Amino acid sequence: MIYIGCHLSVTNGYEAMGRQMMDFGGNTFAWFTRNPRGGKAKDLDPADVEKLRAILEKETFGTLVAHASYTMNLCSAKPETRANALDMLKQDLQRMEQIPNQYYNFHPGSHTGQGTEIGIQQIADGLNQSIWPEMKTTILLETMAGKGSEVGKTFEKLREIIDRTTLQEKLGVCLDTCHIWDGGYDIVNDLDGVLTQFDNIIGLHRLKAIHFNDSKNECGAAKDRHEKLGQGCIGMEAMKRIALHPALQNLPFILETPNDDAGYKAEIALVNRWMNEYK
Ligand code: FE
Ligand code: FE
Ligand code: ZN
Repeated sequence: MIYIGCHLSVTNGYEAMGRQMMDFGGNTFAWFTRNPRGGKAKDLDPADVEKLRAILEKETFGTLVAHASYTMNLCSAKPETRANALDMLKQDLQRMEQIPNQYYNFHPGSHTGQGTEIGIQQIADGLNQSIWPEMKTTILLETMAGKGSEVGKTFEKLREIIDRTTLQEKLGVCLDTCHIWDGGYDIVNDLDGVLTQFDNIIGLHRLKAIHFNDSKNECGAAKDRHEKLGQGCIGMEAMKRIALHPALQNLPFILETPNDDAGYKAEIALVNRWMNEYK
């Protein structure tokens, strides 16, 4: 089985997200650690976080997948943007210690004209300045679609970031199905081949979470526009094969599809039906 859930709003707090996901029929979720477009993070309320932890223990949730702000760019050409990103990363990782042993997912960054080589080094430098040996969170690099100057479109580039990071055991990868499809990996016709490539280059033991999205665009479009399950170019059959793939079992699958609450409930119910058929 996989764990299934979607991205939720943190507006009403942490316990509220746990309760909402139980109502949605899922058993994992994602949220933005701060405003996705930037800005200051709200302080965590320890009592609220404690209530979420109680839910996670009681309800057999899978690992949660916090998402960093989109504005956090460790490899911007602008030094002040990089410094700001480093601050955000350090603060987010400190706060994540209050919800220990979860995942913290981030977009490696956009090199904004500096070139991929410099970008990779700056991302690794940022990680090396932020990760400490006793940190309980695992940081996930997200596979990117490659739009603009995004770093992390190929498995090789993610591997290079990991190779240049000192505390590699604190790193994993979050595979976004829309992004790798848009990045040119044909998960419709050759899912096994793509996962074999992932295993050879990064190692499947580093694959910790899936962003489970269909795509509005063709394979290789480098666009990054998510679509509802089965309504995009990846299509329902391929999405189902991904959810049921033996190499991906036990991972948290996070929906980032363009949906309202009812839409997410329906997609979670659909994935739960697939898993029941499979048993
Ligand atoms: Fe993302
Ligand atoms: Fe994603
Ligand atoms: Zn995306």
